[in-house]
Amino acid sequence: MKKLIIKDKLNRPLRDLRISVIDRCNFRCTYCMPADKFGPDFAFLPKSELLTYEEIERLAKIFVDLGVEKIRLTGGEPLLRKDLPILVKKLSNIQGLQDIGLTTNGVLLPRYAKELKEAGLLRVNVSLDSLNSELFGKINGRNVGVQAVLDGIQAAQEAGLGVKINMVVKKGLNDSEIVPMANFCKEKGIQLRFIEFMDVGSTNGWKMDDVITKKEIFELLKKHYLLDPVEPDYFGEVAKRYRYEGTNIDVGFIPSVSESFCSSCTRSRLSANGQIFTCLFNGDGHDIKEFMRQGTTDEEISKRIKDIWSDRKDRYSDERTEETARNRKKIEMSYIGG
Ligand code: SAM
Ligand code: SF4
Ligand code: SF4
Repeated sequence: MKKLIIKDKLNRPLRDLRISVIDRCNFRCTYCMPADKFGPDFAFLPKSELLTYEEIERLAKIFVDLGVEKIRLTGGEPLLRKDLPILVKKLSNIQGLQDIGLTTNGVLLPRYAKELKEAGLLRVNVSLDSLNSELFGKINGRNVGVQAVLDGIQAAQEAGLGVKINMVVKKGLNDSEIVPMANFCKEKGIQLRFIEFMDVGSTNGWKMDDVITKKEIFELLKKHYLLDPVEPDYFGEVAKRYRYEGTNIDVGFIPSVSESFCSSCTRSRLSANGQIFTCLFNGDGHDIKEFMRQGTTDEEISKRIKDIWSDRKDRYSDERTEETARNRKKIEMSYIGG
């Protein structure tokens, strides 16, 4: 099949794809899957509802033919999905796909990093919201200490994977950790991304007041470091990046709330249960799994994806208000993967 460029109603091409491979997680982060809402009785998806690796591979090939250059695997916790390196291997054989990344909480990396790298994974984004084990244990809801994640980061580096750290910042929760995390990452030469707390799903009790904006974090960092702005590497790069003066180490921001970037959003999402979402905040997914399981041809699937993308008008973050955050139907982060 020939590679196409398809554009949505706001002229945005389809360039990247996030695939959530599982909705389960070994953490219960307060801002994502709060333990009181995702308790022992929570009904996660049965295996039959998850896309198989063969189905993901088939869809990924079709997406790549439609212009996708980058794929990121996520979850839930993607490393809980059995034999993930097998999927990575399948994806890394797709002609025209330029980049495969993984977003993970990191604790299973010591077990899988080497295999993932050998299978063709290029980079991992590891989520770490505090360097204080007591606080981190509270945030992740499972009392997991910081060392487990640091071991994961080390394993990824030793395996030769690119590593970035993602830190979600929520007011009153971990703002005290901004400077220590920046210090740590600068010292270790690891790229850090500060992520504004977002109103994903409907369980995390989001309020605008809880958001620490990029500007606030930046002002704080400027008291400690000299920072030079870095030009974006490509159209649609989400992180606003800066470089510590005199180094080649970046620190970035994902200012989804305070400086939305919908006009350059080129991302489609495939949820763990096989639905396509055209926006992190658009609760109306488009089924592709059942459609596929009816014996549909690649051409029919491709046309369906093309139609979904061509019809896309989402610009939720540009339009966000307290009201939309509260009342809009949204998909949970664990289904769609950030
Ligand atoms: N379990 C993996 C992890 O934590 O990296 C992958 C899935 S997680 C849903 C993907 C990313 O979404 C993580 O970087 C996480 O910090 C971020 N995230 C989750 N809930 C968020 C929220 N309410 N606001 C901003 N980022 C959030
Ligand atoms: Fe799990 Fe990641 Fe959500 Fe934390 S952010 S609960 S690790 S899916
Ligand atoms: Fe993309 Fe939706 Fe986020 Fe805007 S709100 S950047 S359209 S995912």
